[in-house]
Amino acid sequence: MQKLQQERLVCAIGAVAAAELSLEGTIEFCKKDTINGKPRSKFQATQFTLVEMATEVKIGRNFLDKLIADHMEKKNVVVEVSMAKYWTTELAKRTIDRALDVVGDSAMLESYGLARGFRDVRVMSIFAGTNEIMKMIAARFMGL
Ligand SMILES: Cc1cc2nc3c(=O)[nH]c(=O)nc-3n(C[C@H](O)[C@H](O)[C@H](O)COP(=O)(O)OP(=O)(O)OC[C@H]3O[C@@H](n4cnc5c(N)ncnc54)[C@H](O)[C@@H]3O)c2cc1C
Repeated sequence: MQKLQQERLVCAIGAVAAAELSLEGTIEFCKKDTINGKPRSKFQATQFTLVEMATEVKIGRNFLDKLIADHMEKKNVVVEVSMAKYWTTELAKRTIDRALDVVGDSAMLESYGLARGFRDVRVMSIFAGTNEIMKMIAARFMGL
């Protein structure tokens, strides 16, 4: 029980790292891979999707970095850790799901890594306390 906050914080770190990794790989792919001679990254729809993904990932990273610093200063971060565990694990699922759409059929190849990432992140919202339980904890500590 004493280590639950650390466990959930580690989950959030893993989730943000997974989101960052899948985003980086997707951007790299979109710059290299072409459709009718034009890189995927030059299509406006793809750009908008990648920018939206990158914005969310940055928000997640900033939230997480602040939370790690607060935890190291021994602040009470129960509410924030619960929020971070649920939000960042949903972020990882959402980011990889969108990456699959952007990359398309190549994403289905095991060698590419996204398909495995999609499978791996799915459990994150379940283990270390489900995301519904995280919201219940946050609600209780918020006096709701
Ligand atoms: C790959 C993996 C690794 C794991 N590793 C560990 C480990 O190392 N150590 C460990 O102790 N456990 C581990 N677990 C167990 C994990 O923590 C539990 O599976 C998780 O907490 C959910 O509990 P449960 O399986 O009993 O599901 P349940 O509690 O039956 O939940 C099922 C569904 O009901 C929802 N639910 C349950 N109660 C409520 C409620 N009151 N209000 C609203 N919704 C609710 C849940 O959110 C979930 O969606 C692991 C699980 C997996 C899948």
